[in-house]
Amino acid sequence: MTEAPASQPLMLFNSLTRQLEEFRPVHPGEARVYSCGPTVYNYPHIGNMRAYVFADTLGRTLSFKGYKLTHVINITDVGHLTDDADAGEDKMEKMAAEKAQSIWDIARHYTEAYWADVKALNIRQPAHWSIATDYVPQMIEFAKAIADKHCYELDGGLYFDTSTVTDYGALARAKTEDGEGRIEEVEGKRHAADFAIWRKTPAGETRQMEWDSPWGRGAPGWHLECSVMSEALLGFPFDIHTGGIDHREIHHPNEIAQNQAHSCTDASGARIWMHNNFLIERSGKMSKSAGEFLRLQLLIDKGYHPLAYRLMCLQAHYRSELEFSWEGLGAALTRLKRLVMGVASARQVTDKNPHGNVPDDIREGFDREISNDLGTPAALAIMEVMLGRSDLGSVRLSLLEEMDQIFGLDLVKLTRTDLRIRPRAATITEEEIEAALTRRKEARAAKDFATSDKLRDELTAAGVEVMDGDPLGWDWRLEA
Ligand code: AMP
Ligand code: ZN
Repeated sequence: MTEAPASQPLMLFNSLTRQLEEFRPVHPGEARVYSCGPTVYNYPHIGNMRAYVFADTLGRTLSFKGYKLTHVINITDVGHLTDDADAGEDKMEKMAAEKAQSIWDIARHYTEAYWADVKALNIRQPAHWSIATDYVPQMIEFAKAIADKHCYELDGGLYFDTSTVTDYGALARAKTEDGEGRIEEVEGKRHAADFAIWRKTPAGETRQMEWDSPWGRGAPGWHLECSVMSEALLGFPFDIHTGGIDHREIHHPNEIAQNQAHSCTDASGARIWMHNNFLIERSGKMSKSAGEFLRLQLLIDKGYHPLAYRLMCLQAHYRSELEFSWEGLGAALTRLKRLVMGVASARQVTDKNPHGNVPDDIREGFDREISNDLGTPAALAIMEVMLGRSDLGSVRLSLLEEMDQIFGLDLVKLTRTDLRIRPRAATITEEEIEAALTRRKEARAAKDFATSDKLRDELTAAGVEVMDGDPLGWDWRLEA
């Protein structure tokens, strides 16, 4: 196979400048990326998982472009209140009280559930999963360093004065005094946007998680952990900081303010801040507080392979809103099946292109799309067109493997059988379905349509949708 042509510069959309910028690493040849991770008080919903599919696609792209990637995803097990600003209860404490379990058990359970989704979605393991509670002493040191110049104490703890840094809220395009009306007032706060660095445990109460500090026994504010862990693991400044678009409004501006204070500069901490847009679901099932919400496991229970959801994410640009629907997910699953079939047929062809020549335009086109702020929708189309080109012969397989390094759809390994997941509610076995379908085919061949229809009705009653005209050759599908 020929060497890849010289690659295009990688252009990424920086939320700080709201512009496309060329990626220029802080350390030559390296890419250091920090992604705000889950608060492990509940199962992640599929919207949350879109944020990690995006971060993973970014990481895969950086690796593809030849950078040595160091990726950190944090696990928030302390400090995140029910509101991103300083209102409400600690999410972890609240869930632990509701479930009458220790916070540590809650954190372990939901961290493992999150990791299971990460694995099912083929999200690569980052170099570090940084756990917030492992860094509390460092957070206290960080707070001590900024306390005198940038903070003030209230009964509730230590607060950051957002007027002490340059251009607070620039990332959100919000000013200290306005645009923050939804932040609940805390008695004595100097500015609405000021936020807790340390939350003191109220007198007479004990929290499950608390530490001693110069500002009393208590727990760190949520934003502190990301400033501390990103610097500890990636240095200051590092390359790219990611998160969902909601973080552009409060969490990341606050991280930036802390970083400016701690470094005594105007540096935000990361050269590029990137945010994925939301997955939306109109009926509100995505809210973790709703009874049955949209978890990855629900998709699997209904018979959808998790990688169909990954493909659904990749079909949209990460900065576009993506609306979830079961029809959309079904269409993504069909597309995935077509890809898997394309791979299967490319595997059967061996010698149409004995020298393994790859026209330059294929790799160039692919690189151009992916280098244009992770243009996965167009890059996917290039891969499909490539797969359909029989003149490329078996070289299609190696090209596909190369391209799938970005998509992470496991296309070389996935089989048709993998993609046919039994919905949990189904009672009929695959053998029974196949046997009934064989009998039905025989009946149809004998023009015995009465028997054929009867078999079809029986299958329908058992939740099996028989797909006579299925162009993909998938004969049946279990209804969810
Ligand atoms: P949380 O566990 O609430 O801190 O959220 C984890 C990640 O998911 C964060 O990066 C959020 O910005 C992101 N996120 C939350 N809801 C959605 C959504 N509906 N679509 C995409 N990303 C989301
Ligand atoms: Zn964060």
